[in-house]
Amino acid sequence: MSQIIEQENETIGPIFAEPVVVSAKTIRRFYEVVVLLLALNEGYKGTANKKNNELPHNTGENSDEHLFHNLVSRLGQICDSRPGGSTVTAFAVLQHPDKVEYVFASNRRKTVELETTRAYISAILASLRESSYCEDDDQREKYLSNLLRDVLTFNRERIKRYLNGLTTALEACIAICGTESSSTAASRQKSFVQMLELVRLANQRDNDDDEFLDHTEELINALQSLQKPATALFLRKRASDDNAGNTEPWRDTQHCSSRLLAYRRAVEALWDSGCMWPSLFDTFEVTCIPSSIKALNPLNASPQTASEILTRMIPSSVETKAKYLDLAETMQQNFDLNKVIEDEWTNKLFRPIVHAEILVHSWLEKTGGTRPERFFHNWQYIGCSKPVCKLCHYYFSSHPSGVQVRGTHGNLYRNWRMPDYSDSYGLRTKEEALAKRHEILQGIMVHLRQCVLRTLSEKITDSRPCDSNTISSFALNHGHIGMGVQDPNSFVLRTRSNSLIRSEPQPLVFSEEWETMDGESETRDGVERSLASEASSSAN
Ligand SMILES: [Zn+2]
Repeated sequence: MSQIIEQENETIGPIFAEPVVVSAKTIRRFYEVVVLLLALNEGYKGTANKKNNELPHNTGENSDEHLFHNLVSRLGQICDSRPGGSTVTAFAVLQHPDKVEYVFASNRRKTVELETTRAYISAILASLRESSYCEDDDQREKYLSNLLRDVLTFNRERIKRYLNGLTTALEACIAICGTESSSTAASRQKSFVQMLELVRLANQRDNDDDEFLDHTEELINALQSLQKPATALFLRKRASDDNAGNTEPWRDTQHCSSRLLAYRRAVEALWDSGCMWPSLFDTFEVTCIPSSIKALNPLNASPQTASEILTRMIPSSVETKAKYLDLAETMQQNFDLNKVIEDEWTNKLFRPIVHAEILVHSWLEKTGGTRPERFFHNWQYIGCSKPVCKLCHYYFSSHPSGVQVRGTHGNLYRNWRMPDYSDSYGLRTKEEALAKRHEILQGIMVHLRQCVLRTLSEKITDSRPCDSNTISSFALNHGHIGMGVQDPNSFVLRTRSNSLIRSEPQPLVFSEEWETMDGESETRDGVERSLASEASSSAN
């Protein structure tokens, strides 16, 4: 019933038989701007605004379609089993006359890992058939517990990371409470000590599988108490940037707790979907798409300077061209911008891959296109375990398919590339496919250029600092993926010896929509990625 790898489909036109090859010069022009923006982001590191989920949510948040989006992204979440980005997973749900088809891709998984993931998710989906028979809350709890244990088992490697983080953070929070004399601090300290004990039990090295599951489940149940209004507000206040004290352990406690709780939220969302749409789990198949091959460093020529890149990037007709070149020169003097560009340019780990969301989209185009009728309930959606990155966001914004994806966290990754084959179904010749590729690339470049110029003139980056979205999503955990928007008045300013940080926050003109999943920090993963050799070589 299930397929391992994409099928050769009769509907695949000859246009998909060969890759679309853009000239090396065009590719260089694209990546040199990417590298310039990366260097500018480095220079203005710490100036990003803090994203906030408190502001009004999108209309229709509780619509059936929104619940469905939540389900699809939750499927990705429970498959994203390792820290570091290689297992970031995207899903689409298709409707056939006689069955539903789940299609997924991961950033970088080997064939055997894809098969393991396919078997795991197939078993989860099959078990969801039972959810529509649950008639009382006790039955539901039992069912959710079993489901949660399957999910925890598959995600054990990532969970270990959260348990380690929570241990360190809680130890620090307990120590801070110990220095305070208020009765509130004493009672909080007591509850943190109890929580830490549960974390240690879950994280014992010699735990067998059952012990790990029993203790982790117990911990997750206990962590729900941190989300009670008074406790959540206490944590939120301590983690606030306005607090003069050490906010990091509080923020880490929120982050790790909310990530662990997200597994509970995920199985609840799956259960809800089983009740809402039993046909989703009746007759189905699961298809996995191979990960892409890492491309060679696309910038093989000698590194260019910021001025050279900007001179090519900005047409001479632009009156303010000289102003931007001056701004880049100032950054060169204060920050050695060109050295950062050179480091990025020649980095051995500069090996772009196709991100999971685009792998799924590309597969859809290849196998019949992205018309609404192909999708379950005509909902053209690709869900993912993480919000999409800046370049994926620009790609989908520039593509005419109309397929929706999650909001963007705004971070830029060097290791990003376009799909191998034609971007659209229905093109007839190689020339048409190449023209469409240029059109989309051009659309992405327009966004990128705007972003470079904005960063230069406003002297702030829209690349996200660690944990910037944890606080509000923690205190306002609605049990599903929130759709936040930027709070232009909040900034995290950090000292960094040689970065160019403004003394006053500036509102962002850029109105990109942010979306978060229970406070996951993509930037943090980015930091971790650079520390782990396997993961760092596999890109985002
Ligand atoms: Zn991406």
